[in-house]
Amino acid sequence: MSKIETVVDWLLSSNKTVVLTGAGMSTESGVPDFRSASGWWTKTDPQKVATVDALETNYPLFHEFYSMRIQLLEKCAPHKGHYILADWEKKGILHHLATQNVDGFHSQAGNKKVDELHGSIYTFRCHSCGKSATKEAFLAMESCAHCNGRLRPNVVLFGEMLPDKAWMSALSNIQRADVVIVIGTSLEVYPVNQLPMMTKGKKVYINKEMVSHATYFDCILEGKAKEVLMELNEQLEKRG
Ligand code: NAD
Repeated sequence: MSKIETVVDWLLSSNKTVVLTGAGMSTESGVPDFRSASGWWTKTDPQKVATVDALETNYPLFHEFYSMRIQLLEKCAPHKGHYILADWEKKGILHHLATQNVDGFHSQAGNKKVDELHGSIYTFRCHSCGKSATKEAFLAMESCAHCNGRLRPNVVLFGEMLPDKAWMSALSNIQRADVVIVIGTSLEVYPVNQLPMMTKGKKVYINKEMVSHATYFDCILEGKAKEVLMELNEQLEKRG
């Protein structure tokens, strides 16, 4: 039996399947990931741009990085793999999804049960008083209308806590899962990289390259997210 068939067997006998995605889920939509050869981090030092320290001490660089990402996302859209996951949710094959991505593609594709563990790049707030702000105000580098503070997207920066509600929801769903499928993440970023180990269910890893610490997975499907999801979907459809 092929690995794809094995995973399809697990999916068909699972009462609760959870998917956890990372930046590799969106590279086929044209959004660079962080750590691949073509990822953001090869050009930009994350410690300089995606940290609270950068926001507070080098706002022009912080602002440039996030403006560039926001503008790039305006030209990108979910791909077939995102739509397959949304379809699985509708059909009751997938029960919950947690993502490290801030691009909103899973919701755009139609998934309803989504935990955005690293926030969203589409909403904004003042870093000082927390009041909400508009994208236009952020892109124009305006200050907060209430307190004159610095505006920022609602993403989780390095060194910040994850949103409690999203974290607790992802954790409890993963703990109760029969199958957890992890897609397109280097598993480098704490604490999300701990989540796959929290399940007693089967653990599947889909990634275009292997990472040495992924050895605890029950099945590894090396390949691009969209292609592997299309293969799984084809087999699922064959099995009715
Ligand atoms: P990462 O860059 O560390 O790892 C991405 C992994 O995906 C790599 O191992 C890479 O080999 C793999 N990959 C790349 N393209 C792939 C594809 N087509 N199919 C399968 N695998 C592929 O990213 P991460 O682990 O998600 O790191 C977490 C951080 O990245 C988070 O803070 C997240 O917020 C941020 N991030 C989000 C986005 C986004 O929202 N789209 C983009 C870049 C980074």
